[in-house]
Amino acid sequence: MEYKDATIEEVDQAMRESQVAFLSYKNLSGKKKAEFLRAVADEIEALGSSLIEMAMSETNLPEARVAGERARTTGHCRMFADLVEEGSWVDARVDHAQPERTPAPRPDLRKMLVPIGPVVVFGAANFPLAYSTAGGDTASALAAGCPVIVKAHPAHAGTSTMVAEAIKKAITKTGMPQGVFQHLHGKNFAVGQALVMHTITKAVGFTGSLVGGKALFDLANKRPVPIPVFAEMSSINPVYLLPESLGATFEKTASMLAASITQSVGQFCTNPGLIIAIDNEALKKFIAKLSEEISKIPAGKMLHPGIADNFHRRLKESLQQKGVTIETQSTDEGSNLYGRPTIASVPAQEFIKNPLLAEEVFGPFSLIVKCRDLTELTSVASRMHGQLTSSLIGSEDEIQNHSSLLNVIVEKAGRLIVNGVPTGVEVVPSQNHGGPFPSTTDSRFTAVGTDAIKRFVRPVAFQNFPNALLPAELKEENPLKIWRMKNGTLQKA
Ligand code: NAP
Repeated sequence: MEYKDATIEEVDQAMRESQVAFLSYKNLSGKKKAEFLRAVADEIEALGSSLIEMAMSETNLPEARVAGERARTTGHCRMFADLVEEGSWVDARVDHAQPERTPAPRPDLRKMLVPIGPVVVFGAANFPLAYSTAGGDTASALAAGCPVIVKAHPAHAGTSTMVAEAIKKAITKTGMPQGVFQHLHGKNFAVGQALVMHTITKAVGFTGSLVGGKALFDLANKRPVPIPVFAEMSSINPVYLLPESLGATFEKTASMLAASITQSVGQFCTNPGLIIAIDNEALKKFIAKLSEEISKIPAGKMLHPGIADNFHRRLKESLQQKGVTIETQSTDEGSNLYGRPTIASVPAQEFIKNPLLAEEVFGPFSLIVKCRDLTELTSVASRMHGQLTSSLIGSEDEIQNHSSLLNVIVEKAGRLIVNGVPTGVEVVPSQNHGGPFPSTTDSRFTAVGTDAIKRFVRPVAFQNFPNALLPAELKEENPLKIWRMKNGTLQKA
């Protein structure tokens, strides 16, 4: 089915409606917003197998993966519902006046987080549900009290439309202002760019490529009134294999990495694209085992022809770089639309000299960087760009003995993993899905977990406000019974 691109007039109309909705939606109680978010989850589930079939047909993803993504999507809607119903996420603080203080009296000051305003959301091709129309950006912005305008991803426009209809049903059922959610199609960059540039837009949530995210970030910064763009972009998720442990764990480690590199044809932002190790006997055994596993994994159909073309182009480019050797490829080649699992290696000196080798190859590919010794391995780590994740494979003692390596990688990634793989992002309050540039445009925030709400709020202090005029969260009697910082102590009632 053809979906018509929104016109500039439709973009303007959507933004105006979202602003009207904002004026009432921002004042709704946490309980009302929670009802709405739970209704969104219920309506998505009510779409049943037709949603799964639509997503499978548009993305080539298997049923289990799409069903898992749907569960994750409804799960995060309900997680944010619980968060806003409980209420203490607004970080309310109350400092009473001290009229007798000398030399100057202290005024009554109260502060809390308030919604920033209409948020434009761009989802990524590889997550048609969990990072798309009702993805984490949409759910967290709606929870914060911000209307959302989604620019549908053209690679899953039908899935996006179905989810948008479910959200609209939830709006009607729970009596939300109609303009609180808008859905626009745009195969043409002009639609997304007009949304980012619109004066009513107050923030952008983006998941996708580095080129796309950086372009929209730069655009937003050229606005007469700049706005924050929370772009989750590219990451190659280095995995460091520590030498002493590898001799005993090479088989297990190779199997674990083979599965992670090829899961969903490698089309995960947390795909382990780089393996860094010391070139010794243990590494040779590890490569032999990894090669055995990878050669058996068939090529998989990629999300869409554009992603497949991009994978083949970037893979070819990487394999042509000086010092790069193919270690193994799947025996199954697949066609143009398929991603063929591939492992290559390069000496660390060549890797360090060649920035292209540190760029994402989005698909089932991983590059092994062979280091002479631990000093060279630490030097590779210190040159790494910002990442969503970094993993360390080794015993506790070995990691402790190489604390200088740990000290370096802490600076480079948003999530550090010991003896595990980066794929599989738990949606829980303690999650951090973010990291220094270029993995995101703002390493202070996460796109997954309850703290994702913090991207779409701003603090406001109320000075000497009469009690009746204060938001419920800050009133003297604490009617919502939420945790608040009152005169320096955390109190509930
Ligand atoms: P993409 O090509 O950047 O597209 C994302 C969205 O942004 C699409 O709607 C796209 O519209 C739009 N867009 C891109 N460039 C634009 C521009 N210059 N102006 C206006 N709109 C623009 O990304 P993708 O191929 O869908 O997703 C794959 C990438 O996402 C991979 O690199 C992966 O690592 C990354 N990813 C990151 C995370 C994370 O959390 N860090 C999670 C998942 C995926 P069009 O389609 O019309 O171009």
